[in-house]
Amino acid sequence: MHITRIETFVLHVPVSGGGIEDGMHTVAHWGAPFVRIHTDVGLIGTGYTGTHAHLGTDRAILTVIDEAYGPMLIGKDPREVLALWDELQHAGPLQWVGRSGITHLAHSAVDVALWDLKAKAANEPLWRLLGGSAQTRLEAYDTDGGWLDRSDEDLVRETHMRMDEGYKAVKIKVGSPDMMRDVGRIRQVRAALPDDARLMVDANGAWTVDQALAISPYLAEQNVTWLEEPIWYDDLPGHVTLAQKMHTPIALGEQLYTLDAFRDFLAVGAVHFVQADAVRLAGISEWWQVADLAHAYRKPVVPHIGDMMQIHLHLAIAHPACSLLERIPWMQTCFVEPAAVKDGHFVVPQHPGAGTTLRDDAIERFAVRNVGSFGRS
Ligand code: MG
Repeated sequence: MHITRIETFVLHVPVSGGGIEDGMHTVAHWGAPFVRIHTDVGLIGTGYTGTHAHLGTDRAILTVIDEAYGPMLIGKDPREVLALWDELQHAGPLQWVGRSGITHLAHSAVDVALWDLKAKAANEPLWRLLGGSAQTRLEAYDTDGGWLDRSDEDLVRETHMRMDEGYKAVKIKVGSPDMMRDVGRIRQVRAALPDDARLMVDANGAWTVDQALAISPYLAEQNVTWLEEPIWYDDLPGHVTLAQKMHTPIALGEQLYTLDAFRDFLAVGAVHFVQADAVRLAGISEWWQVADLAHAYRKPVVPHIGDMMQIHLHLAIAHPACSLLERIPWMQTCFVEPAAVKDGHFVVPQHPGAGTTLRDDAIERFAVRNVGSFGRS
C-alpha cells in the first residue's frame, strides 16, 4: 500500500448555544483543519486538529501540510506510522521553524490520518489495534453545560439534566473577574450534585498564583476533584508552588505541545491529572508516549477534548492510564460513527479506523470554501 494523494480542507462548526466563554476565550465556532490521505488500494485516512476557527491560522496549518508534510508522504506505506512520525518530526527545515505550534498541529492531523489508515487496513477500530478491550467501561464527564457565560440557573439546570442522564461528574468554568461569583457557582453546582458525584473546575489559565491560592480554600470546602489550568500554561515554577500549597489536585496539559514539556511537569510534581491532547501533541504517536510517561508516574490521563472526542475515545479505551473522558459534543453530527454516551459511559465504537471518517454532508455544511482543496477560488 502506498500514499497517492493528500487532500486538505477546513471545517468551522458552531459551538453549543451559538457561542461559549471561558476565563480566557470567546469562541463561536470550533475550527478543524482536516487532512485526507489517499492510497493506491482505495483506503482513505482522515485526520484533523482543533482550533478556535481563525481562518488565517487554519490556512497556515493547511499550508504546512500541503507544502511540506504532504510531499514527504507521497509514495510511502502509511502503515509504517512510527517511522513516518520520526521522519516528519525531525525534518530539518520544519524543525527549524517550529517544534510546537502550527507545524506541530499540522503534524498531528497527518499522524491521526495515518493511524486511521493503519486501523482501516487492519479492519479494526483503532482501540483494538492499540490493544484495548471491548469490555472497557469508560466513564464520561460533561463540560458543555458549564461555560462561564451561562447563567447560574442554566448551570444548575444542566447539572440536573446530566445527573438524570446517568453522569456522575461535571466540570464548570471559573476565572470570572469577581472571584466570589466563581465561588457562588461552585457552591450551587455542588449542591445540585449527589454526594457521590464529582465536580471539577477549569480556569483556562486566567489567574495569577496569588489568585489561585486565594480561591483554594473554597475549592477544598466544596470537595472539588481538580483545578484545571489555574495559571499561565508554561509557568512551571508557579504550578510547583500551587501543587505544594493547594489541597485540590492540578489538572493540565491541553496547551502543552511536546513529550518533553510533560516530562518537565511530571518530574517536579506540578501536575496530577494529565490532560494530553493528541491534536496538540504531534498526533496519536506522541500522545501515546505521554500517556505511558504519565502512567510510569502513576498519574491518571484524562485527555483534553474541546471537541476532539472522536479520536480520544479510541485512545482512552485502549490506554491503561485512562478511565475518564470529557464530553463536548460540538462536532458530533460530522462523523459517520459519532461518539455516544449511555448511562454515563461512552459506547465502544465498532467501525474500522480512528473514528474520524466524515459524513459527506458535514463538508457541505461546515467547509470553509476559500482554503485548502475546497476553493482557492
Ligand atoms: Mg480545559
